[in-house]
Amino acid sequence: MTGMTTTAFSFDNTYARDLEGLYVPWKAAAVAAPKLIKLNHALAEELGLNAAALDTPEGALIFSGNQLPPGATTIAQAYAGHQFGGFSPQLGDGRALLLGEVIDKNGKRRDIAFKGSGRTPFSRGGDGKAALGPVLREYLIGEAMHALGIPTTRALAAVTTGETVRRERNLPGAVLARVAASHIRVGTFQFVTARGDDATLRKLADYVINRHYPELKDQADPYLGLLRAVCERQAELIARWMNAGFIHGVMNTDNMTLSGETIDYGPCAFMDQYNPATVFSSIDAQGRYAYANQSPIANWNLTRLAEALLPLLAGEQNDDQDRAVEKAMEILEPFQQRYEQYWLRGMRLKLGLARDEADDLALARDFLVVMEGQSVDFTKAFRCLADAAEAVDASREGWLRKLYADDAALDAWLPRWRARQNAESVAPAQRAQAMRAVNPVYIPRNHRVEEALAAAVDLGDYAPFEKLLTVLQQPFEEKTEFSAYADPAPASESAGYQTFCGT
Ligand code: AMP
Ligand code: MG
Repeated sequence: MTGMTTTAFSFDNTYARDLEGLYVPWKAAAVAAPKLIKLNHALAEELGLNAAALDTPEGALIFSGNQLPPGATTIAQAYAGHQFGGFSPQLGDGRALLLGEVIDKNGKRRDIAFKGSGRTPFSRGGDGKAALGPVLREYLIGEAMHALGIPTTRALAAVTTGETVRRERNLPGAVLARVAASHIRVGTFQFVTARGDDATLRKLADYVINRHYPELKDQADPYLGLLRAVCERQAELIARWMNAGFIHGVMNTDNMTLSGETIDYGPCAFMDQYNPATVFSSIDAQGRYAYANQSPIANWNLTRLAEALLPLLAGEQNDDQDRAVEKAMEILEPFQQRYEQYWLRGMRLKLGLARDEADDLALARDFLVVMEGQSVDFTKAFRCLADAAEAVDASREGWLRKLYADDAALDAWLPRWRARQNAESVAPAQRAQAMRAVNPVYIPRNHRVEEALAAAVDLGDYAPFEKLLTVLQQPFEEKTEFSAYADPAPASESAGYQTFCGT
């Protein structure tokens, strides 16, 4: 385009334009000494931005909020939410701002937002700031999730502010630029419904349908269709988390998107040893958001979405409230079953099975039961199972068996798996290859993430962060030079590993 500077963004800000009442126009706080520490070149190009022009001091000004790119309309979005089960009618962007939307190279509308850009009318007691460690953590885990093929928001840039942020100790301040299909949450709907504003609720629902589920526009009851579609995407998303051993850690309704992307990497972490009760978050004493609770909690959150949609479900055909509740329940009821279908589809791929057979669920569950009994590393078990698949006999089972303190526990399971595989005529090498394409070697191991963050925060050394990011960008391809990244920390070190909220 003529006349455009090379750092230009082609903003088209529909949220600000169409959804008045659901945001407050607001400006980012100026920061003292912005320094760009990381720009996501691949994502920048995908968004139609000029990465080279942005990977500069001018980029630092832009991504710190000190210099607004033309066309940005910075707003703090309003939302409510259930946090650990308790409802807050007003949360909102207390430390975030939406800059606007761009259409990416695939024609998809994407939000660009800041996190850590200062106080807003929604900040309550908070300082509106973000510390460097959690910003880098969100960067790393989001990119890892993306590389694993899991729908997610992504980091576009990270900037240090030259300021100090007060947490338990003083920490370097930072701003994250985040890209999302949208930042509309279950809590966005709860915010509107809690205020009894049916007209805005309808506008919001229509907006979400237009933006994320346009195929629903022509359906008889698009709002019921919206609930169904969001349930479907969340069922698939949670199944993908579970297949990867990912624990979100803070599945509040304000942290669940309508788009089906994973959002808000706070106390999240990947599980090492398989244990369904795993919780990492320091504030989740009850284990509400434990690994095995993620699908029931998603279901709970979606029930809150259904409640928020009720005025639309009841209103459309002038039905009474009871009938609306009934219709919503019919959609929510199969959630767990849909989740399990997605989960099993993922497990079949992980186990190297092409066809669907009736006993596959038991086969998959029993592999996990043996894993749990022996405290085996979840990621390594599946990866070594791919090695075992290289041969039709036991000759390649060595790596797998080594993971188990008592490998006799596998002796009942492996023949079942082999018999099941033999029912499919796939060459062993081909099966092993297919398994390796879905079972990662590299996940963000907790000690590696901590090591990368500590080096950056304590020493200003970004080399471990860069290295880890490189490793995580190709999680399925084993490379000898990255072998130190495939292992969990020794159990003695990882016991009691805790994560913390707060960017
Ligand atoms: P989160 O737990 O990150 O999903 O955030 C929950 C709510 O707390 C959101 O409304 C955030 O905007 C707000 N919040 C979190 N940290 C801060 C902060 N440092 N300053 C202001 N608001 C915050
Ligand atoms: Mg949040």
